[in-house]
Amino acid sequence: MKIINQTQCLCAVCERVIPAEIYEQNGRIFIKGKCEVHGEQISDHVWDDPEIYAGMQAIKTNPGGSRQIVVDVTRKCNLNCKVCFANANQYQGNQFMLEDIDRTKEYSQVFLSGGEPTTHQDIFKIIRKLVSNKQKPILFTNGVKLANRSFVRKLSKAGLRSVLLQLDTLKSSDSQYIRRGNLTTLKLKALKNLAEFNIPTSVWTVVVRGKNLKDIRKIHARLFKFPNIKTVSAIPIWRVGRFEEKDFEPPSTIIKELCQIYGLETRDFVETTRFVCDIDRFFSIFDKNRGRLFGKCMSKALVFKFKNKYISIGKIFDLEEINRRLDTVLDNRDKRIFVFNFFTFLVFNQFLLNFFRNKYFRAVVWKFFVNLRYLFNKKFLMISPFRFITVGIFPNAKNIDLDFIEPCNSYAYGCDDYAFRPACLHYINLDRKQNSK
Ligand code: SF4
Ligand SMILES: [Zn+2]
Repeated sequence: MKIINQTQCLCAVCERVIPAEIYEQNGRIFIKGKCEVHGEQISDHVWDDPEIYAGMQAIKTNPGGSRQIVVDVTRKCNLNCKVCFANANQYQGNQFMLEDIDRTKEYSQVFLSGGEPTTHQDIFKIIRKLVSNKQKPILFTNGVKLANRSFVRKLSKAGLRSVLLQLDTLKSSDSQYIRRGNLTTLKLKALKNLAEFNIPTSVWTVVVRGKNLKDIRKIHARLFKFPNIKTVSAIPIWRVGRFEEKDFEPPSTIIKELCQIYGLETRDFVETTRFVCDIDRFFSIFDKNRGRLFGKCMSKALVFKFKNKYISIGKIFDLEEINRRLDTVLDNRDKRIFVFNFFTFLVFNQFLLNFFRNKYFRAVVWKFFVNLRYLFNKKFLMISPFRFITVGIFPNAKNIDLDFIEPCNSYAYGCDDYAFRPACLHYINLDRKQNSK
């Protein structure tokens, strides 16, 4: 056992903030909290892979507050999944009213969540209100209602900016197990409708041990046939709400599988996450009020499809060197000469020279120009030639590392107590409330 860090966590019994240590054992990372009253509490760390943990720990994030908010607009759902972080349909809380959305005005991106947000009677009005408040509405949905074309048309017309669609499997038996229903046909219809209206869509796959991980290559291949799908996420079960411990697959296993599928290395996830966090910080030099968009709870890899292969962004750009130089710029943020030097390096070394020496880069440039057609209908997310492969982590009361979530990039808000807090704390709090009923 090797102790590698000190942090703070919450006592799973009395909820007090307690000191904790992070240690490595048998190639995995653990967190051990010490409550004076309730003793030692040990759990696997949310980033249980030592390389990912060390990489994520070292990443610096935009110092501004979170720019994003997850809003629970209902606790009801038209499904009753075996795995549900929100424990939907069990506990209702206060009714979310249209006016409640105005409390989120300081956040530029609003994820409408729940329960199932499309079951809220005022969902279109909520979206329109966000648009009129100059906020970006994003729907976090199981997609059941999106199988109806006219529903998607209305969402698009109301001004919905993008969708996070839950899709775990294309197999009826796995769908039955995870979601308690065969949803494959519905989900495929939803995907078709979202593509028809050019709504940028990220797909979330909740990985259930012994079920869908082995099929993820097939699932992603099918998903990437849709041009509006720019992000696919494989997410371990969030161990709050409804879940069974035996269904949990740790993020280290999920990342290993994705590395095999896409020819990536763990380092690609760390460097790409560091890159997007650095870019986020970089823009904050010019806009002091810019909030944080990227954090340490979602690791990312960027890939580009070249013929029948996926190419990591690290094979197109020298990401480690870009990150190193970006850090120098950010450590000297008052000296504009560093910004100038950085841009010179980017333009000459990474763009011009790359154009002649790297065939993948030429293909990226070509695809970028082809995608510029999306400018005309303001579908900016569709312009990128790259696709994100992401793996997220969601702490529960047993393994929340308070140092790690301090730079949270996704707050949450609901009508339970109208408080704003990091999304993981919000759902931990909700979990406690329900368990104490
Ligand atoms: S996981 Fe999502 S779709 Fe399933 S019951 Fe919970 S809120 Fe509904
Ligand atoms: Zn305690």
